[in-house]
Amino acid sequence: MSKPLSRTGSAALAVLVALSGLSVAASGAAAAPTGRPSPGGQSAGDSLFPAAGNTGYDVLHYGIRLRYARSTGRVSATTAVTARATHPLSRFSLDLQGLHVAKVFVDGRAGRFSRHDDKLVVTPARPVSGRFTATVRYGGKPVTHIDPDGTQEGWIPTSDGGATVVAEPLGAMTWFPDNNTPRDKATFDARIDVPSALAVAGNGDLVSRRRHGSRTTWHWSQRHQMATYLAMISMGRYRVYRSTMRSVTGRHLPVWSFVARKYGSLAPARALVPRVVRFEERRFGPYPFTSTGIVVQDLGVGYALETQNRPTFDGPPSVLGLVHELAHQWYGDSVTLRRWTDIWLHEGFASYAEDLWTAAHGGPSTAAAFRARYRAHPASSSLWDQAPARFRDPALLFSSAAYVRGGMTLQVLRERVGTPAFFTILRRWAARHRDGNGTTGQFRRLAEQVSGQDLGALFHDWLYVPARPDGY
Ligand SMILES: [Zn+2]
Repeated sequence: MSKPLSRTGSAALAVLVALSGLSVAASGAAAAPTGRPSPGGQSAGDSLFPAAGNTGYDVLHYGIRLRYARSTGRVSATTAVTARATHPLSRFSLDLQGLHVAKVFVDGRAGRFSRHDDKLVVTPARPVSGRFTATVRYGGKPVTHIDPDGTQEGWIPTSDGGATVVAEPLGAMTWFPDNNTPRDKATFDARIDVPSALAVAGNGDLVSRRRHGSRTTWHWSQRHQMATYLAMISMGRYRVYRSTMRSVTGRHLPVWSFVARKYGSLAPARALVPRVVRFEERRFGPYPFTSTGIVVQDLGVGYALETQNRPTFDGPPSVLGLVHELAHQWYGDSVTLRRWTDIWLHEGFASYAEDLWTAAHGGPSTAAAFRARYRAHPASSSLWDQAPARFRDPALLFSSAAYVRGGMTLQVLRERVGTPAFFTILRRWAARHRDGNGTTGQFRRLAEQVSGQDLGALFHDWLYVPARPDGY
């Protein structure tokens, strides 16, 4: 619904909207002619989550400073969003759910702001163009976001007095103002100030851990591009483990793991991390980031999330759970979808990684696993009701179509192009779109390029038709 507005790029429309003071629910803000400032759009244009994301700028970096009060569960925070305007902006918006905003500065000058639903709309003292920094001071008790399928995400308070963020797809806006779309990735710094009894897990690398009085500030730095939903902090009473692993390419990667005290040391699970990373490097190419590890907490959400660098688990992980979430570091985290309807590019790949692990450790081959699933799901099975690359209902986004049928699509592709070409495709996909985004169309074109085959029918049958593909 928002797309036709944005694609017209009508100057008259932009002026009308500016005069009326209405918020622009358009994707791709209408660019004003001759650089006249105009408002940014308040939607990234995703068909499943049209309220999420904004346009008119590209975020380069988030600098988050957050102080957590354990006794009240409240935070006081400042997030500096450094961005590049894609056209001169008279006004722009950020996504923020809950929390109280005290002040907004744009390049050091106080700006006006208002809140509508989950938008923080900022009118800078002077229009911005080029690179700018919006600094938001805010605080309060963060809320938990409820997804269309009823699951909890975003800020999750935990029984040990801490809290953990698991934010797919929208929960990032419960703890920092952002451009909440996976297509606008950025680097991050998070400085988290907590009572010293708590430890803080984050993304990327630990720059410092400084004690001041009874509190400690943990500074995590993410130098790789990261989608907002993969940004994580987890504050809790943890056992913290640091070691180093050697990657297949000979790199020394720091391994930071955080295990909630109630689970003991989880030594076997932690010992698996380097093994799984190397296993996946041999198949997918070099590990894409600068560190790894796991976070294990009693979250009560019922799922694990591939938070960048170190996945977060709700309770002790299974072997295949580790394999799945670590595979996402390549497929999901380093190469991220542009549209949520392409979720099979994450879940199908991570599910296929489980099959690869199983096959290499005494289980059935990936081909046998495929045949068993195909036979177990006749045409009447609900597995076929959803086309993995054509979701229309956000409540079904994380249904088995993305996982099972998505993974089956990769096995079909492998049998069609042959195993050597198949792994060339997987590695090249990870390399070509590293730190970026990709679409199903781009993946198909790459597979056709590598294999020299027309794969149109295969992709169509397996990804775009809500029915069981015939003849497999
Ligand atoms: Zn997954």
